Amino acid sequence: MSTIDLTNVTHRLDQSSSIKTTCAYCGVGCGVEINIFKALNYVRLKGDMDHPANFGKLCSKGSALTETLETESRLLYPEVFGQQSDWPTAISAVANGLQKIIQAHGPDAVAFYGSGQLLTEDYYVANKLMKGFIGSANMDTNSRLCMASTSSAHKRAFGTDTVPNCYDDLDEAELIILIGANSAWCHPVLFQRITKAKENKPSLKIVVIDPRHTTSCDIADVHLQIRSGSDGKLFNGLLAYLADKGKLDHDYIDHYTEGFEDTLKSAQADFPSLEDVAKACGISTEVLTTFFDLYAQNDKVVSLYSQGVNQSTSGTDKVNAILNCHLATGRIGKPGSGPLSLTGQPNAMGGREVGGLATILAAHLGFKPEDTDIVGRFWGSNKIPKGPGLTAVELFNAVAEGKVKAVWIMATNPVFSLPDADKVKAALAACELVIVSDCVARSDTLDLADIKLPAAGWSEKDGTVTNSERRISRQRAFKPLSGEARPDWWIISEVAKAMGFAEHFNYSHPVDIFREHARLSAFENHEGGKLRDFNLSAFKDITAEEYEQLAPVQWPVTTENPEGTARLFSKGGFFTENRKAKFIPVTAKPPKALTNKHYPFVLNTGRIRDQWHSMSRTGLSARLNLHKPEPYIDIHPEDATSTGLSHGSLAQVESHWGSMLARVNHTHECRRGNIFVPMHWTGILTSKGRVGAVVNPFTDPLSFQPESKHTPVRVNAWPCAWQGFVISRDKLDMPDLDYRVDIRLEKSFRYEIADQQQSIEQVEAQLIKCLDHDEDISWQRLEDPAMNLLRIAGFKEDKLLFVAMFQATHELPARDWLTSLISKQEPIGEFRNSLLSGRPPAGAADTGKQICACFNVGEKTIRQLILDKGLKSAEDVGRACKAGTNCGACVPEIKHILQS
Ligand code: SF4
Repeated sequence: MSTIDLTNVTHRLDQSSSIKTTCAYCGVGCGVEINIFKALNYVRLKGDMDHPANFGKLCSKGSALTETLETESRLLYPEVFGQQSDWPTAISAVANGLQKIIQAHGPDAVAFYGSGQLLTEDYYVANKLMKGFIGSANMDTNSRLCMASTSSAHKRAFGTDTVPNCYDDLDEAELIILIGANSAWCHPVLFQRITKAKENKPSLKIVVIDPRHTTSCDIADVHLQIRSGSDGKLFNGLLAYLADKGKLDHDYIDHYTEGFEDTLKSAQADFPSLEDVAKACGISTEVLTTFFDLYAQNDKVVSLYSQGVNQSTSGTDKVNAILNCHLATGRIGKPGSGPLSLTGQPNAMGGREVGGLATILAAHLGFKPEDTDIVGRFWGSNKIPKGPGLTAVELFNAVAEGKVKAVWIMATNPVFSLPDADKVKAALAACELVIVSDCVARSDTLDLADIKLPAAGWSEKDGTVTNSERRISRQRAFKPLSGEARPDWWIISEVAKAMGFAEHFNYSHPVDIFREHARLSAFENHEGGKLRDFNLSAFKDITAEEYEQLAPVQWPVTTENPEGTARLFSKGGFFTENRKAKFIPVTAKPPKALTNKHYPFVLNTGRIRDQWHSMSRTGLSARLNLHKPEPYIDIHPEDATSTGLSHGSLAQVESHWGSMLARVNHTHECRRGNIFVPMHWTGILTSKGRVGAVVNPFTDPLSFQPESKHTPVRVNAWPCAWQGFVISRDKLDMPDLDYRVDIRLEKSFRYEIADQQQSIEQVEAQLIKCLDHDEDISWQRLEDPAMNLLRIAGFKEDKLLFVAMFQATHELPARDWLTSLISKQEPIGEFRNSLLSGRPPAGAADTGKQICACFNVGEKTIRQLILDKGLKSAEDVGRACKAGTNCGACVPEIKHILQS
C-alpha cells in the first residue's frame, strides 16, 4: 500500500505554530486560524483576519470547532463484515466486492454517493475512479439535495455552472434580496456583513422573501411572506413589471443575450395584474409593489438565494426566473450587482468543479461526445460513460429495486438526509454490499454498512475547498490522523489500485491530485478548443511548497490572470456557443404534492442556528446543544389551537411517506397552514426525530433536486402515558422508549423521554439498573401516583449524579438549574431540599435558556442585567455580558427580550 507524504503536516505539527485552514461547515467558507501551543498540548481557534470570506469573523458553529475534536465518537479502525480489520484486508474486500458485482452485472450495478464535506481532491479521485475506470456515471452526492437546481439553471442561462458575483458586492449594493435563505442562521457571517453594510449605509434596502418570518427579517425593510412555492410567479411578475416600467437594459439584452422576447411573453402570461401576482403569492399588493419598485429604482441589486429556491420540483425554473431579471437589467457581474447563490456545504462548489454529480463529468464538462473525448484522452481511459448516471433519489430507488447492488457512501448519511428516508433505510438494509467511509463510529447509515472505512476528520484533512463565491481555500491538517483513519483520497486511490488501475491513481500527496485537476481544467480550454469557465491553468505546475502556501483565490485562475477573478459577465462573455446568455422562458408551476383534507399542512424543513447537518460534530459541543435541544415543530398559534396542540406538547407529523415525533412550538413566524421542522435530528440521537422520513421524494425534472420545502402533512397530538427527562453525569444506556432525544451537555447528558405503553415504574427500574453498580449512591424520591408523577435524584457524597422527573403532562420543571447542579464538582448542600421541586430557591444561580451560544449566556442572565443596569439596547447587553458580540446571530432574540 502506498504511504502518504506527510512532510508538510509533520512540519506544521513539529512546533508551536499558527496554521490557517477553513471552517468545516457552511458554504460561506470562513478562514480559520489555529494556534498550536505544543508545550501546553493546547490549540486555540480564531477567525482568520486575512481571509476574504470572513475577515476574522466566525459564527457559533465555527467558533466551536475545537470542541468537536474528541476521538471517543470516531471510527478508528476499518471494519469488514462486523470484524475489526486492517487496511490491506479492508481495501481488498472493497475492491473484490465491487469487481465481483461489476463482472456479474456490469458497471452500472455499482454506485458512489459522496458529500459536500469531501475535499476537492477526494472528490476528484472518487469521480475519476467511477466515471473514468469503472465506467459508470453513478457518482452522485448530497449536493444534489443542496445546489443542483442552481447548477442546472446556471448552465441553461450561462452555458456553464458559473456564479457571476462575489461577497464584496454585499458592501456595494443598494438593494439586497434574500430569497429562500435564512442567512442569519444558515450563513451567519455573511448575514453579519450585510448587517454591517446597512449600518454603514442606512440607504441600503434589504428585502426578505420567505414563507417564514425568520431571524433574517430582523434587518429587513420589507418581508414578502409568500405562499410556499410561489417564487416562480413572483419573479416572472417582476420581469413583466420591469418591462412595463421601462426599467430594462436593452443595450445589455441586445449585445450579450438571446431569447428575451419569448421569455418576456411567458413572464407576462404569468402577470395579468399586480393583484393577480399578489394573490398567487399570498401577500398584499402594497408589499408586492414596494418590492418591485425597489428593484426597479436601484441599479445595484444583489439577489442571494439558497435552499428555499433550490429544493423544489421547479427549482431550476425558479433560479432562471431570478437570473432572467438580472440579465434583463444588465445587473450581473458588476460591483454591487448580480445574482449570488449561497451554497449550503463547505465544498458544494468544489464537488461541482470535479464532476461530483452524476449529471456532469469533470472540470465543468458534460457527456457530449466532444466532452467525453477530452476527459477520456486526458485520463487515458476509453471507459467514459456516454450519458449521466443515477442522481441521489434515483440511485437509492435503484438500490431498493436491486439494480444497484453495491454502493459506496462517503462522508454522508443518506438514511437521515434523503427524502422518503425510511425507504432508503430499507433499501440499504437489503443491499448486497454497502461500503461507508466516515469519520464517526455511528450514524444511521454506518449502522447498515458491511464495510466501514475510517476517514480523516476535519482537523486531519489536507486539501482544498471552494466556497459560494468561487473562492478556493486550503484546508490544512493540524492534528495527526486518529487511529487508523486515512484521507478519503488515499482510501479511494488504494481501492482503485487494487482494482487494477494503479498507474492512474499513483498519488502520494493531495498536491498531486490538485495539479492534475488544474491540468484537466486547462486541457484544450481555449478559443477554438472547448472554451469553458472553470480554468486553473495557473496551477498546472504547482509545487508542493506553493500548494502549502496557497492563498484563497477565486477561479478562473489562469496563467494570464494568476490573481483570480472576482466577477464575470458584466460585458457578456458567456460560455455558450455564441458567447451570449440565454433567457429561459419560465411558466410558474405549483409544488408537485399539494395539501388536501388528509394532509392539510405544508411541511417546510431547514437548518437551525447552532447545528450542522446530522450533528455528528456540532452535537459534540455542549454549548451548541442548548439553544434548540430537541426536534420541534414551528406552528402558527391559531393552527395549533384548531388542531389541539398545546405549546411544549409532543406531536406526530405524518405524511404519505412516513412520520416523526417532535415538540410543538407556537410561533407567529409560520404562515397559517405551514409548519417548519428542522432537519438535524438522526435516528442515533432520537427514537423518532428524522424529518427525512416524512419528506416527499419528488424531484425537479432538470436538476433532480428533491422538493424538501413542501410536503403535505398532518399534525396530531401524540398521546403518551407520561413524559419526562433524565439528567445524568454519566452517559446512560437508555431503555427503548417511544420518544427519546439524547442531548450532550457540558458535564452531563440529558435525555428527553416519553412512552405510550411502559409505566413510569418500569422505566424507573431500568434507569436505576444503569446506575446500581455503584453502591454508594443514595436516593431521594418524590411520588404522587394520583398525578402519575415521580421525581428521583441520586447522590454520592452529597454531589448530584442523576435526576429524573416524570409526569402525565409535558409541563415539567425547567432543566437549566438542575443541569447546573449536576455540573457542580462540590456538594450541593442546601439545594438538596428543594431539588425535587425542580425550582431553584431564591438567590440560586439560574442562567435560564441559552440565548448566546458563542458566550453561553442564558435568558435569565440577560433579563436580570436589563433590570439591574437599565440596559436599553442589544449593544448595551453585549457590553454587559458579551452576548451577541461574536457572530451576532442571537441579537434578534436579545432585542426581543428587551422589547418584552
Ligand atoms: Fe463556518 Fe459559520 Fe463561517 Fe459558515 S458562517 S463557514 S459555519 S464560521
